Amino acid sequence: MADHNVDLFVIGAGSGGVRAARIASGHGARVMVAEEYRVGGTCVIRGCVPKKLLVYASRFADEFEDAAGYGWTAGEPTFDWATLIANKDREIARLEAAYTSNLERAKVAIVKSRAVLEDAHTVRLLATGETVRAETILIATGAAPHLGAEIAGIEHVISSNEAFHLPALPRRVLIQGGGYIAVEFANIFHGLGSEVTLVYRGEQILRGFDNDIRDHLATEMGKRGIKIVCKQTVDAIEKVDHGLDVELSDRESFMADCVMFATGRKPNVQGLGLEKAGVTLARGAIAVDEFSRTSVPNIYAVGDVTDRINLTPVAIREGHAFADTVFGGKPVKVDHADVPTAVFSEPELGVIGLTETQAAERYPRVDVYKTSFRPMKATLSGRDTRSFFKLIVDAASDRVLGCHIAGPDAGEMIQLVGIAVKMNATKADFDAVMAVHPTASEELVTLRTKAYTVERQAAE
Ligand code: NDP
Repeated sequence: MADHNVDLFVIGAGSGGVRAARIASGHGARVMVAEEYRVGGTCVIRGCVPKKLLVYASRFADEFEDAAGYGWTAGEPTFDWATLIANKDREIARLEAAYTSNLERAKVAIVKSRAVLEDAHTVRLLATGETVRAETILIATGAAPHLGAEIAGIEHVISSNEAFHLPALPRRVLIQGGGYIAVEFANIFHGLGSEVTLVYRGEQILRGFDNDIRDHLATEMGKRGIKIVCKQTVDAIEKVDHGLDVELSDRESFMADCVMFATGRKPNVQGLGLEKAGVTLARGAIAVDEFSRTSVPNIYAVGDVTDRINLTPVAIREGHAFADTVFGGKPVKVDHADVPTAVFSEPELGVIGLTETQAAERYPRVDVYKTSFRPMKATLSGRDTRSFFKLIVDAASDRVLGCHIAGPDAGEMIQLVGIAVKMNATKADFDAVMAVHPTASEELVTLRTKAYTVERQAAE
């Protein structure tokens, strides 16, 4: 006999698991959630939230510099890493407590333990050895940094997990990777005062983003003093007297005090007992259908462990949809199309929908509108920076297929553009909106002149 009986057992108290647990409980289910680390998961504890706090910290450097052009004289600013990290940790502890009390208020039982499947209906709590019998099980264990091959000196490499707890701000940072995390941390460290080198194996950072946006961001980061080295990988790292000697594939070497790899994340599927329960994987992630159901009918999975779109709001939506489907009597599928996203780089990026390349593959004629300009704030500050806006439009229907923004507050803008794109707005709908002046976002409704049309080539 099991030590406990519940309707729903959730493994992992991150964004997806917490939402699913609370909503299922609201539908009347008896819910237990197990978490082996800290309630809140990657987003709250060592992802989006602490990252954004570090982004805020890093942006003050520009503010101090820019103030002079607006008439301000301030003393030489100094930065204290220990203060930032301590304040950040306090805020994360507050949020963790808030997540915990929200779960408790929702009458969800929380167990601080690793949980593994014994069979399709039984979970074992490793902290106590107790078993729980559950009608339904939800796996929401997320993903973890993956550092790639075991190169010489890999033991000196940190991931983003450790970057949040470094004892001091490194003077020289070398980051490998060209995705969200690499780009964001390159800008964070640079803003805080480190000398930053970004090493990326491909042609240009941010593969999968619109090519113009990739080029624009790389140029802007370069202007700020971040060294981007493309078409190279880190081959070896050696600890020497004054730091880490990092050798790249072309044999060029760099000295660094901190080497961080942001080379992707792998779903947390190891040691969960998935085989015992019969849950199958696809490309290293838990395979699920459109209702997040796994190969075992009473076991579901949401969030990064399923490797669909690895973003917090997507995991939350998947967790909510699961709970409504299974416990609310209302089957809900999550719409994974046209998900807006932001990269908190400098300048910030906000994107939704198709890139120019993707649109040209799917539509016969695609109109492209774009503009690049100096943001108004940079006039008096004298800062050498430009913003970039691009709209991708289906020539036949006039529908806006994609929007790509690089500039201050691009993340805030793209959330709102997302509403229009999800409503299938046309370019004429955008144009019908009166501009808000003077703003940067007015460019979205004043892009009158088409840059060019891309015609799909007929197959040979
Ligand atoms: P990404 O998948 O975005 O990027 C991984 C990068 O590492 C790519 O540039 C990839 O190159 C490179 N890479 C992979 N393997 C190797 C290797 N063996 N050697 C050298 N380079 C390698 O992962 P991240 O870790 O940056 O982020 C993980 C996820 O977290 C993202 O997918 C994103 O969904 C989410 N996230 C979202 C944020 C946001 O919304 N602002 C912020 C941070 C993370 P290549 O392009 O050639 O494959």
